[in-house]
Amino acid sequence: MSDTIFSKIVRREIPADIVFENDTVLAFRDLNPQAPVHVLFIPKEPIATLNDVVPEQAELAGQLMIAAADYAKQEGFAEDGYRVVMNCNQHGGQSVYHIHLHLLGGRQMAWPPG
Ligand code: AMP
Repeated sequence: MSDTIFSKIVRREIPADIVFENDTVLAFRDLNPQAPVHVLFIPKEPIATLNDVVPEQAELAGQLMIAAADYAKQEGFAEDGYRVVMNCNQHGGQSVYHIHLHLLGGRQMAWPPG
């Protein structure tokens, strides 16, 4: 797949406000936050869309979820609640083709989404 801005963040070629990192996952604040807390959790390995995740990457996909929940607990808003979202392709509103889990918190979320 072609390189994206998120791979450049992983390689530290462009700046980002990184809040969490381990061997496989990187998390940084969204440049255009939609909530008081808006953090993106990405695999360091580039995968274009959720459609491209293969069974061998199931653990990696799960690690994004666990990292997001751990961050919400650490920051003290897990009990109040939050939303995680992964947009896929055009109808999902995906704009960066390197999978990322949006963690949104710090305010009441509406449902259904627009
Ligand atoms: P999506 O529309 O689901 O693909 O989400 C992409 C997200 O990446 C958007 O919420 C953007 O605001 C965010 N974004 C784009 N470029 C950057 C960047 N350089 N640093 C942080 N967030 C970014």
